[in-house]
Amino acid sequence: MFSCDVLVIGAGPGGLAAACSAKKAGAEKVIVLERDRKAGGILNQCIHNGFGLIRYNEELTGPEYAYRAIREASDAGAEILLSRHVSSIEKKEDGTYCVSAYTKDGIETYDTKTIVLATGCRERTRGNISIPGSRPAGVFTAGVAQNLVNVRNVMIGKRVVILGSGDIGLIMARRLTLEGAKVMAIAEIMPEPTSLARNVSQCVQEFGIPLYVRTTVSRIIGKRKLEAVELSDLDQNGKVIPGTARRIDCDALVLSVGLIPENEVAQTVGVRLFANNAVDTDKFLQTSVPGVFSCGNSRHVMDLADYVSEQGELAGRNAVHLINGQDMESWDEEKSNCMKKGFPEKGSVTCTICPNGCQVIWDEKTGTFTGNRCKRGARFAMEEKSNPVRTVTTTIRTKLGEDVLLPVRTAQKVPKDMVGEIVSRLRSVFVDNDVKIGENVYSADIDGKNICVIATSDTGKDQGFSAIL
Ligand SMILES: Cc1cc2nc3c(=O)[nH]c(=O)nc-3n(C[C@H](O)[C@H](O)[C@H](O)COP(=O)(O)OP(=O)(O)OC[C@H]3O[C@@H](n4cnc5c(N)ncnc54)[C@H](O)[C@@H]3O)c2cc1C
Ligand code: SF4
Repeated sequence: MFSCDVLVIGAGPGGLAAACSAKKAGAEKVIVLERDRKAGGILNQCIHNGFGLIRYNEELTGPEYAYRAIREASDAGAEILLSRHVSSIEKKEDGTYCVSAYTKDGIETYDTKTIVLATGCRERTRGNISIPGSRPAGVFTAGVAQNLVNVRNVMIGKRVVILGSGDIGLIMARRLTLEGAKVMAIAEIMPEPTSLARNVSQCVQEFGIPLYVRTTVSRIIGKRKLEAVELSDLDQNGKVIPGTARRIDCDALVLSVGLIPENEVAQTVGVRLFANNAVDTDKFLQTSVPGVFSCGNSRHVMDLADYVSEQGELAGRNAVHLINGQDMESWDEEKSNCMKKGFPEKGSVTCTICPNGCQVIWDEKTGTFTGNRCKRGARFAMEEKSNPVRTVTTTIRTKLGEDVLLPVRTAQKVPKDMVGEIVSRLRSVFVDNDVKIGENVYSADIDGKNICVIATSDTGKDQGFSAIL
């Protein structure tokens, strides 16, 4: 039996931030329990950039963001214990809690005064949306496809259709294209894409991928392996319009059709949930069970890891305030609602410097800019028209530790038209020595430009800073 003041369940950005802030707020002992063999949560497979723009005012990849969050929690003195799958929470008579977790050596129990639930979310699957047709191999959720391509070095197909225009689906459309697949279509049932405008612009329009709104996959075709899907148009009420079905030959269908908060553990102690599985908390992020807090995607699915971290921080601090009998702080629910979603406006440049995704229109005749909420948007729009640049993110092969791939990125932004060439060259690069995050793993002169590529994670087994009690 172990004991602590604050026990955090889940070591994604929400849980890590909660643990860090609980320590900083004065909790003596803070433990994080994580079922995976690595801390960082879903960010470990999100190898693309775009994280940390709010929190660190820097553009990081998912693994780089995770690395910082792990370091911050670890440096603050939180203990992060990996390979521990929490199965239940029991409320004791004295008002404290007993948490049970499976480990490879059996069940461990933890006594704690307060708990922060940060168990993330899972994806809706084909079973959740009932697509007619056969049940062949080749149908993946976007997160599973991301894990196969970015972590396990398994390419899911050569001709891909994506159903749903959420951020993960669009990010995978770009990733699969860069890895050599042809994304035949993205079908979205709503009249607008549901993702951030910056992702529509950078992941879809930039690669010429067709995105059809008010469209669905009306049939899956194939005996053992997927052979094709049928796309159909939808009317205003979301019903298939007869006679609009067209066949698209493909060998992979990727579903990006929503996320469900993961709260099975929360239910073991009677935490009240909404119909969509999100947690009913008060403004202090405390659940219906006193002393049990919730943050991040397990509370309510959020668009950006930066806001998840901020919410985790508040949950961790409030857990300590509760122990100390101090006033708790409120979460501002409106905080993350200012980002532009859907199609970018015609004739505009989507500014990607921060997640707001302002639609900047540059009138070259008058030299005026509209739509940008700050001056940086004007500079971005000018650069985007004259000399567009991108950070290239991809993976290279390794056989070190338990990982087969190492996530990498270019050290500097490179001209946009070099992205494909750099990804293609990196396919034949192999790392056979231990590498630390930030280390140079490849340099080459391409078209007279010196291109440097750095690791965005460590190789080897030590990732995740598994502290031992
Ligand atoms: C596939 C996918 C891709 C995404 N891509 C992006 C992106 O590109 N950019 C972006 O900003 N956001 C992205 N998101 C949103 C992302 O969920 C958030 O950015 C952020 O990672 C959520 O943090 P979290 O801490 O709430 O959850 P997570 O990062 O999911 O972490 C939850 C952790 O809890 C652990 N856990 C769950 N149950 C238990 C248990 N019973 N016992 C112990 N541990 C447990 C899990 O193993 C996991 O490590 C993505 C989400 C998904 C699902
Ligand atoms: S213009 Fe300013 S506020 Fe708008 S997206 Fe760009 S950096 Fe963000």
